[in-house]
Amino acid sequence: MELLLALLIAALVVATVSRQRNPLKVCPTCKGAGVLPSGIWSKRYRPCPRCGRKGEISTR
Ligand SMILES: [Zn+2]
Repeated sequence: MELLLALLIAALVVATVSRQRNPLKVCPTCKGAGVLPSGIWSKRYRPCPRCGRKGEISTR
């Protein structure tokens, strides 16, 4: 049980460090474009609501 807890803490530390080293990553919704294809008009694009048109999202 203690080993499991230690592994869990280690995983959390690794996740925190990797987040601090990569505070921004390409938005998976729009893949960095910042816009999404509109569902109604196939040639139109609308701003991505997740990243706010930047194409990158903060992982924090
Ligand atoms: Zn996006």
